[in-house]
Amino acid sequence: MAKQWDFSRIREWGWREHPVGPVIPEPGTADRYETGGWRSLRPILSPEKCVHCFTCFIYCPDSAIVVSAEKMKGFNLRHCKGCGICARECPKDAIHMVNEAEARGLEKCLLPEEGGTGREQTS
Ligand code: SF4
Ligand code: SF4
Repeated sequence: MAKQWDFSRIREWGWREHPVGPVIPEPGTADRYETGGWRSLRPILSPEKCVHCFTCFIYCPDSAIVVSAEKMKGFNLRHCKGCGICARECPKDAIHMVNEAEARGLEKCLLPEEGGTGREQTS
C-alpha cells in the first residue's frame, strides 16, 4: 500500500523530511491543478477543416485536446500550455495559434508605474 503523506506541516519540514523526487499523493491529482496559466499562445480550432483524425490528441503533451462522441471538440484551456504542437502536427491545418493576451482582450496592459495593474481589459 502506498505511503500516506501528511503535508499539513510541510512548511516546518527540514530538508531531511522532504522525500526524494516528486510525490503523487493519490492518482488523478494532476487534473485538479490549472497548469495553463502561463500560456502565451492559444490554439484555435477551425471546425470546418477538422476531419477528427485525432493526430492532435495523440501529440498533445498535456492531454488538453477535448474529445467527445468520437469528435475533436476543442481544447481544455485549464491545461493547455500553448506549445503549438497540435497546430504543427494537424494534417489539415485546422488549428492555428493566436496571441493569448489578444485572445483575452488584454492587448493593452499598463504597468503599475503607468497607472495600471498589468491586466487591464481593453474590450
Ligand atoms: S489533428 Fe487536425 S484534423 Fe485531426 S482531429 Fe486534430 S484538429 Fe482535427
Ligand atoms: S497547444 Fe500544446 S498543450 Fe495546447 S492543446 Fe495544443 S498540443 Fe496541447
